[in-house]
Amino acid sequence: MFERFLDGKTAIVTGSNSGIGLGIAHRLARAGAEIVLNSITDRPEDHALAQNLAEEHGVNVRYVRADMSKASECRGLIEQVGRCDILVNNAGIQHVAPIPDFPSEKWDAIIAINLSSAFHTTAVALPMMRSAGWGRVVNIASAHGLTASAFKSAYVAAKHGIVGLTKVTALETAREHITCNAVCPGYVLTPLVEAQIPDTMKEYNMTRDEVIRNVMLERQPSKEFATVEQMGDTVVFLCSDAAAQITGTTISVDGGWTAL
Ligand code: NAD
Repeated sequence: MFERFLDGKTAIVTGSNSGIGLGIAHRLARAGAEIVLNSITDRPEDHALAQNLAEEHGVNVRYVRADMSKASECRGLIEQVGRCDILVNNAGIQHVAPIPDFPSEKWDAIIAINLSSAFHTTAVALPMMRSAGWGRVVNIASAHGLTASAFKSAYVAAKHGIVGLTKVTALETAREHITCNAVCPGYVLTPLVEAQIPDTMKEYNMTRDEVIRNVMLERQPSKEFATVEQMGDTVVFLCSDAAAQITGTTISVDGGWTAL
């Protein structure tokens, strides 16, 4: 479905050299959009990802390094590209600790990367979308944007915050053929989630399989991880004409987690 309907559009996906961001970039490229990949690193393999994506889908793809924890670099990313029809605010990090032990620099970094970056990129992208008369902003929130877990204070606060920012962005653009929505994934087995497994194994004295089954997927009634491709397909849907009147809302792709 939706083959090549994004020909001529430019999509910027923050935090897209792995995981969900890269999955979204693949699906947007398959639909014909030119892609800008981004992350904080500037390694040959980052540029190779862009080249592979371009060859696979026959679209222009470039990789632009920018640190989403810094306002000036968030704004600079969009300014440097100079055009933005589709903005996917996806960059994110995680830290797990009880509130009294939560390092304040981790709090600041999570709020900056997972929440403030979306404000800065959106601020620069919206005038470009207004000039083009069309635009799509998709914020990658989380089931933790709608519910909470202990020990994830900064992450839960940032993800609830981005759901709020999504609604405000939608209200400020509602009459301009620009939409803004949040996608709320449940657990997807990406590097971000992989990184949590060893500590959880130690904490609960469990095997890897037990952590996946009894801790992570315990809250996901489908008992399966969602996939990066499913996140990408959801974003592509939000970019389609079928979704033109969907704005200011959240779409959960979480195997039923937030229905509990
Ligand atoms: P990931 O670690 O694979 O991807 C995170 C991306 O953000 C990477 O490309 C990383 O390089 C980038 N990034 C980190 N710090 C950055 C910075 N300072 N500047 C620019 N880029 C930076 O993890 P993921 O699971 O694919 O996460 C992507 C998004 O999905 C995040 O916002 C995350 O909160 C959200 N999410 C993930 C899950 C899940 O289960 N994996 C669930 C809900 C929400």
